[in-house]
Amino acid sequence: MRVIFLGPPGAGKGTQARRAAAQWGGLQIATGDMLREAVATGTELGRQAKRYMDAGELVPDDVIIGLVGEALDRPETRQGFVLDGFPRTLAQAEALDRLLEERGLKLDRVVLFRVPDAELLDRLTARRVCRECGRNYHLKFSPPLRPGVCDACGGTLYHRTDDEEATVRRRLGVYDRDTRPVIDYYRRRGLLEEVSGEGTVDQVSEAVRRATEPGR
Ligand code: AMP
Repeated sequence: MRVIFLGPPGAGKGTQARRAAAQWGGLQIATGDMLREAVATGTELGRQAKRYMDAGELVPDDVIIGLVGEALDRPETRQGFVLDGFPRTLAQAEALDRLLEERGLKLDRVVLFRVPDAELLDRLTARRVCRECGRNYHLKFSPPLRPGVCDACGGTLYHRTDDEEATVRRRLGVYDRDTRPVIDYYRRRGLLEEVSGEGTVDQVSEAVRRATEPGR
């Protein structure tokens, strides 16, 4: 499968992309994770990206497009990929078309996760993320067994600085302004499938499975 998971921050794209890629055997290409890794290791890219990320703004298109191009050249993508957090602007969507065409690849589906804004705000401000494996927790609805420690790998959980309320509001505004047009871009091409991002992780996984069934 070659799919895009589209939707606002906090919709569950990352959690579902991790599951789907493991199930399908392809590569999860999560631009946010790639940028956070660059920030953590202190590379030039990380240094440049950090100020945009901390402000809840988008990192410039050319930087992100370069990253995705490199990821698409990794051998694991032969079994497919799940793009998670990309494309976020029309320019990125158009660039992705070129990247895929150059490689003779076609998109199978774009899955849009729908979640009301009030719930997104609640999910993100209560979200904790594992520094090691990236797994997400919600302090109230899916807390870790031991506070601050990842159930899966024992890594330390942290609160992303861009998950503070003011920055979350900014990110939701950026989504409305820059990413909503991307939805229509794929709807017009008949690639879009919508799923509800509400409910349990298993329920959403099941909706994603149905939305990505071949021949749909
Ligand atoms: P995410 O983990 O997907 O919520 O991304 C965290 C932050 O990384 C975003 O708020 C942006 O600053 C940056 N980022 C991630 N993906 C992109 C993208 N496709 N285009 C521009 N900025 C991005």
